[in-house]
Amino acid sequence: MPGKWLHKMTWEEFEEEFVGKSGGEFSEESGEKIREDSGGESEDKPTKKLEDESGRKPQGPVIILPIGSTEQHGAHLPLGTDTMVAIALAEEASEKTGAVIAPPLWFGWSPHHMVLPGTITVRPEVLAELVYDVIESLAKHGCTKFILLNGHRIVNISWLQIACEKAKRLLGVEAVIFDPAYMSKEIVDRLGFGPLGHAEEIESSHMWYCYPDLYYADRAKDYVPQPHDLYSVDPRYQGDTLCYVPSTVRGMSKAVEVGKGTTGRPSMASKEKGKLYHEHLVDRLVQVVNQLRSRYGRT
Ligand SMILES: [Zn+2]
Repeated sequence: MPGKWLHKMTWEEFEEEFVGKSGGEFSEESGEKIREDSGGESEDKPTKKLEDESGRKPQGPVIILPIGSTEQHGAHLPLGTDTMVAIALAEEASEKTGAVIAPPLWFGWSPHHMVLPGTITVRPEVLAELVYDVIESLAKHGCTKFILLNGHRIVNISWLQIACEKAKRLLGVEAVIFDPAYMSKEIVDRLGFGPLGHAEEIESSHMWYCYPDLYYADRAKDYVPQPHDLYSVDPRYQGDTLCYVPSTVRGMSKAVEVGKGTTGRPSMASKEKGKLYHEHLVDRLVQVVNQLRSRYGRT
């Protein structure tokens, strides 16, 4: 488990993250520190900083919170796929930037995947509140910059937006959502992947590269559903679309019958493409960490 994981630190080690390392001004391009904290670097213990009434802002690290799901992913991928890809991206970005990774949330909103065993779903309001509580706890320790890394592409976004908006409004912190589906439009086109589905060639390629021991290529079954009239969640889709049509267990039944829970073409998956896709997303995530750091103090 590479990367700087919060749950592997003692509280004193976590506290150290507030001193110097994450303070100051950073280049948006390279992530290099270009100026020390304008309040003056201090040897003070961070707890003291937090109690300081001189008006200085606490210098918390950028926190990456991996969020996924536990849900069926066809016959060829494990139930933890969405959380595991979020973890893999967070670990590599943390290695490159020193951002701290909060313990992952392994549960998402997955009612339509209850069609197959192993799926665990939480209610949307529970997810929004749980994420808010995580942010609020860390905000009380002085953390002000959060990246919610959503491995359960698209589906969790609405509820995470509620948590982010509430965190901004009530806590004054900055929380952004990083979703691989929205952050990979260019590379997905370049690699010639098909439309966004479920356990399809995009997700399968990514898992094949990140967790080859848990990828079962010979079990992959394709199922390409008929497109819905006036509805698509794929960020690359250019046509007119409704914003929300509920996915249902009934709607998934064909995917189960033909694709064992898949929608898309996992037979087209490629470990090499998965590597390129992963590297692109890590670059984007590093960029977002650096952007948050460079904006420190301006908001
Ligand atoms: Zn998935």
